[in-house]
Amino acid sequence: MTATGLRRFREPPESGRAGGPGETRCELCGEVAGDDHDHVVNTETRALLCACRPCHLLFTRDEGTGRRYRAVPRRYLYAPSFRLNPADWEELQIPVRTAFFFRNSAADRVVAFYPSPAGATESLLPLGAWERVLAANPELADAQPDVEALLVDRRPDGTFACHLVPIDACYELVGLVRLHWKGFDGGREAREAVDGFFASLRERSRTIPPEPPEPPESPEPGGDDGG
Ligand SMILES: [Zn+2]
Ligand SMILES: [Zn+2]
Repeated sequence: MTATGLRRFREPPESGRAGGPGETRCELCGEVAGDDHDHVVNTETRALLCACRPCHLLFTRDEGTGRRYRAVPRRYLYAPSFRLNPADWEELQIPVRTAFFFRNSAADRVVAFYPSPAGATESLLPLGAWERVLAANPELADAQPDVEALLVDRRPDGTFACHLVPIDACYELVGLVRLHWKGFDGGREAREAVDGFFASLRERSRTIPPEPPEPPESPEPGGDDGG
C-alpha cells in the first residue's frame, strides 16, 4: 500500500497559517474569513480552501457535476450501527481502526483512504463493495461527492460505527494521527487523540437510527369498560 493519494490531500491551511486568530483570509477573494469559516474543495486538485461566507454560498448550489469548486457543507450524521461486511473490511487491508470513503467526481469513482503516520493513504475498494455498503446503509447514501465522506470506525469488538462528515473533518483526523503517531501501532497518545476526535464528532452529530423505528407499543388498557 503506497501513499499515492497523499500529495493530493493538502492540509487545511489553518495548521500552517501565519496570521493570528481571526486573521484567516478567504482563499478565493482575499477577504477576512474569520476563525469559524467554511471551506470549499477544488475538485481537480483536491485542495481544501478557506472561504468567506459569500464565496462559500456561491458554490453551495448544486449545479451538476464538472464544477471546479464545491462548498463543504456542515452536516454531521452518526450511525452507531453501521452495516459493513467484515469480509469487505478485511479486503481493504486497512491497518488502523478507521477509514473514510467519498466519491471523487473528477476520477468518477469512490475512493477509500485511511490516516497513517505518512498522511492519508489510499486503499483499493473491493469490487462492488461500495454498492453493498450503500445498499445496507441507505440512510447514508446521499453523501455529496467530493465534499462529504463516510468515516468508518471499527470498534475493538469488530462492529462498525460510521459518521457522515464534511471532508475537512477527515483532513483534521489525518493531521491528528500524523501529529501523535508513535512506533508501530501509534501508541497511547494517538489512541487518545483519535478517541477525543470521535467523541467531539458524536457531540455535534445527529444520530441516525440503524433500524426503522419500532412501532410505538400501544398500551393495552386491558380491562373492559363494562357496558
Ligand atoms: Zn471570499
Ligand atoms: Zn480554513
